[in-house]
Amino acid sequence: ISMEAEDKPNSISTIIPGWFSEISPMWPGEAHSLKVEKILFQGKSKYQDVTVFQSSTYGKVLILDGVIQLTERDECAYQEMISHLPLCSIQNPKKVLVIGGGDGGVLREVARHSSVELIDICEIDEMVVTVSKEFFPEVAVGYDDPRVKLHIGDGVAFLKAAPEGTYDAVIVDSSDPIGPAQELFEKPFFESVAKALRPGGVVCTQAESIWLHMHIIEDIVANCRQIFKGSVNYAWTTVPTYPSGVIGFMLCSTEGPEVDFRHPVNPIDKTEGDGNTERPLKFYNSELHSAAFCLPSFAKRVIDAK
Ligand code: SAM
Repeated sequence: ISMEAEDKPNSISTIIPGWFSEISPMWPGEAHSLKVEKILFQGKSKYQDVTVFQSSTYGKVLILDGVIQLTERDECAYQEMISHLPLCSIQNPKKVLVIGGGDGGVLREVARHSSVELIDICEIDEMVVTVSKEFFPEVAVGYDDPRVKLHIGDGVAFLKAAPEGTYDAVIVDSSDPIGPAQELFEKPFFESVAKALRPGGVVCTQAESIWLHMHIIEDIVANCRQIFKGSVNYAWTTVPTYPSGVIGFMLCSTEGPEVDFRHPVNPIDKTEGDGNTERPLKFYNSELHSAAFCLPSFAKRVIDAK
């Protein structure tokens, strides 16, 4: 977090002091900024720099290696979509694996599904878990569920070692492919995911932005079409604090009972997840589920051609 820039708030060439600007080679020439009220934590783990600050408009913010991972205000959009898009697309999910997602938000969402019996999570960086428990209790609450089993380690190795056909769903809640998450975007990783899934099992992976990363998305889609013999789909949603304000998901199924991701067969918003719990869904609903697969023409052309 840079505070040393010049104080010229009206100048077009100014980096504003007291603001966090998300500068990265992954989105050259642009940087979303948030006003910092207070820096709450700065640490360096074995894998990455970890920062938490209080923003003036998005609540607390978690940053890894200079990149926003979540804010209290809009984390619901990401966590609910990455979890319920896959889990609402199959009947009775029982065994779920989360890769990454150390903040616990995906666990919180997966735990809404009463059919689920086991939630394995493999996060590489223990500091993300401890920081989230200290500063983001409404997110880390996911760890309180007795079905959750936390494994600290590399998701790539964890999946390689997983017995074949174990999981109904794998959710890959990763950071961007620069740093420890790089391999989570590569073909061998997707091959181990397919192997660890039961026939007709589903995977949902964080798949970047159609505005910024069409080249990465093209590669992911091409790999997935080779590996997943059920169906291969791209969905997206809005998350204001992610680069370009949107984020995508790759949703695939293995050969077996057919999965039609566009038509949820296990709707959570009409049952256990919504309204009648102390923590109603804030973002996800069945209409948004189906709509998430409708793509702008420029993205549709590229993805359909792969
Ligand atoms: N859930 C967040 C949100 O709401 O936007 C998103 C990101 S989550 C914090 C991404 C996590 O993936 C990080 O905690 C990071 O340490 C973890 N990660 C990166 N590479 C990994 C790997 N190879 N194996 C397991 N976890 C990994």
